Amino acid sequence: MSQPIKLSIVVPVYNEQENIPELSSRLTQVCSSQKTSYEILFVNDGSTDGTLDAIRKAKQKDPNISAIDLAKNSGKAQAYTAGFAEAQGQIVITMDGDLQDAPEEIPNFLKKMEEGYDLVTGWKYTGKGKRSLSSKLFNHVAGKLTKLSIHDSNCPFKAYRSEVVKNLKVYGDLYRFIPALAYWKGYRIAEIKVENYPRQHGVTKYGASRALSGFFDLMTVAFLTQYIKRPLHFFGLAGLIFGSIGFLIDLVIVIEGLIIGKVGHQALLLLGLVLIIISVQFIFTGLLAEMQFRLFQEQGKDIPVYKKY
Ligand code: UDP
Ligand code: MG
Repeated sequence: MSQPIKLSIVVPVYNEQENIPELSSRLTQVCSSQKTSYEILFVNDGSTDGTLDAIRKAKQKDPNISAIDLAKNSGKAQAYTAGFAEAQGQIVITMDGDLQDAPEEIPNFLKKMEEGYDLVTGWKYTGKGKRSLSSKLFNHVAGKLTKLSIHDSNCPFKAYRSEVVKNLKVYGDLYRFIPALAYWKGYRIAEIKVENYPRQHGVTKYGASRALSGFFDLMTVAFLTQYIKRPLHFFGLAGLIFGSIGFLIDLVIVIEGLIIGKVGHQALLLLGLVLIIISVQFIFTGLLAEMQFRLFQEQGKDIPVYKKY
């Protein structure tokens, strides 16, 4: 039987034809100097330029290079999903394909992984204009909500133990919260500083709409990591708060009505009723969510992370 592969590099690429030659030759140089077996998986995310050809050419120079060719442009999360499914290495490194992450820093990740971490994530601390105020604020809020305080949740440059990538389901844009999701599952996370170089060729694939979707994703991750196993605690609390306020308002109005013989404050009375109805809806939503999670558990899908010695 052949030796297991030690290292997999997963690089999602969408229209990066000009960056592939330099990136692949630098990757080959770094990986081969590690004296371990490795594979470089370029996930071609439905590129419309010569990216796939560029990967094929690179493969002629280094047979450890492969292309995973997605049928259509599906986004970075799906590119990661395909790359993670194919990766055979005991350690998986992810990085961007535009040379903003330097292959020469891979050994720093490997060294940190040797300390026993399950995931080592990069922190782009010198990036020119990259760590903007909004990004700092975002990471701060994300840290508070997900209880994992790191500087740069979004950095694409990361190293994982293979078990982590096989265990993580990244969908939508949630790859930006991989550290929080992994931490929630119980994996050990570390952060190391990395350089942030300017994109070498081509243009960024994302526009301003990313900020808004980032906000929704943060909500999803915050909710998932804290309440997925006890959704009623979230919905029930909201229901109780609304319901109590509504009940109190209506109680006062009814008592007042009994005393003075007619019901006043009709708008307030309505508000109270609406709050009570909303509260019932919240509580039932919570119960439905509890049922859903119970079903998931009964199907044996709620498996904890563990090690066997
Ligand atoms: N990318 C991808 N699919 C997409 C968009 C981007 O695989 O639909 C890749 C892209 O080729 C690059 C990485 O994801 O390797 C990061 O993209 P980009 O550099 O445009 O993002 P930015 O650095 O501007 O945040
Ligand atoms: Mg980039």
